[in-house]
Amino acid sequence: MSPGDRPVRPGDPVRPAPRNSGSLLVDNIGELVTNDTGGEGGPLGIRRDAAVLVEDGQVAWIGPARYAPAADRRIDAEGAAVLPGFVDSHAHLVFAGDRAAEFAARMAGEPYTGGGIRTTVGATRAASDDQLRDTVRRLRDEAMRQGTTTIEIKSGYGLTVADEARSLRVAAEFTEDTTFLGAHVVPAEYADRPDEYVGLVCGPMLAAAAPYARWIDVFCERGAFDVDHARAILACGQAAGLGVRVHANQLGPGPGVQLGVELGAASVDHCTHLTDADVDALASTGTTWVSGFEPTTVATLLPGAEFSTRSPYPDARRLLDAGAAVALATDCNPGSSYTSSMPFCVALAVREMRMTPAEAVWAATAGGAAALRRDDVGRLARGARADLMILDAPSHLHLAYRPGVPLIRQVLHNGVPQCRP
Ligand SMILES: [Zn+2]
Repeated sequence: MSPGDRPVRPGDPVRPAPRNSGSLLVDNIGELVTNDTGGEGGPLGIRRDAAVLVEDGQVAWIGPARYAPAADRRIDAEGAAVLPGFVDSHAHLVFAGDRAAEFAARMAGEPYTGGGIRTTVGATRAASDDQLRDTVRRLRDEAMRQGTTTIEIKSGYGLTVADEARSLRVAAEFTEDTTFLGAHVVPAEYADRPDEYVGLVCGPMLAAAAPYARWIDVFCERGAFDVDHARAILACGQAAGLGVRVHANQLGPGPGVQLGVELGAASVDHCTHLTDADVDALASTGTTWVSGFEPTTVATLLPGAEFSTRSPYPDARRLLDAGAAVALATDCNPGSSYTSSMPFCVALAVREMRMTPAEAVWAATAGGAAALRRDDVGRLARGARADLMILDAPSHLHLAYRPGVPLIRQVLHNGVPQCRP
């Protein structure tokens, strides 16, 4: 059973009800990226001179603009490109404080070790619910303006039973894809008792967090959680009905990727240091996640982290050539990647990781959806959620070709325009 199929429980995030405000036609689209590979138009399923009809928050019709049906309202795309909204499948938005000084020190030559997470834990524990909520809202809105219509949000800066539960409770107000990351680091008060902390995570912390979480995640890395602790925590989460994701192989080679594949994780994230066996294991799970079939483990690459820690980028080309499924996400967090910008990640992936623009756009939309095992987002087809962006550009190529330029003219989320009318 996929995590999305489990029965609804008290505290589950509520799927937003579609707003029934009549039909809306997005017309005069020069280039429409659908990610619908059933037809023509290459891997992005590109259609020219297209229109999209939105009804009840969903895509009701896609076709040539000249055959577009009548609608109550119309948005003229003026020949621009229209894409599915970005799916950011990896973000840490529930926190307080910032670590700009740590960033500056790193740029002056200090290495990144992950130890700064404890700084954010202290600030997060001291913050009120409203302060945490305001930060999540600010970053979610910032991401939306840059085209992100689906965002996963992790806990992991509370690291007590109460603080992890409230982090997820706040996250669930903003997204359906909430992830329990009590195993982010061992907090300072358990530094010499890691076994005891793992017991807390698997016991009372998981019990308090699970009602608000869809996923469980572990930072499986030297200095965080070893493979035995990671396996134990993820198995407990699975037993509680949560889907599995893993922070793996970021700072050096390690067992995280293989563990993720072994447990049927939806995604292993970072994948910066991979052996041939790691790449083969990921490729063996297939390239395309299909609803109802679970084996695909997506390699989610987070180039904002390498940018912000001045580290070597993951080898996306090697994964793609081996046949692994690849997603791109921001890893938005105050320490190692304080960006909410998916267009920035697309540009980095193309320039620094040798992905083609089409591969990067797919990875940031359909790839992210696969990493969250969702088929209602990340693509534009009849019945999909009407989450899309209109660019101030004629083609998806411009996202990488014009880095740093605000190219998102309009965003529709559940069919509702978010930016200017
Ligand atoms: Zn992360």
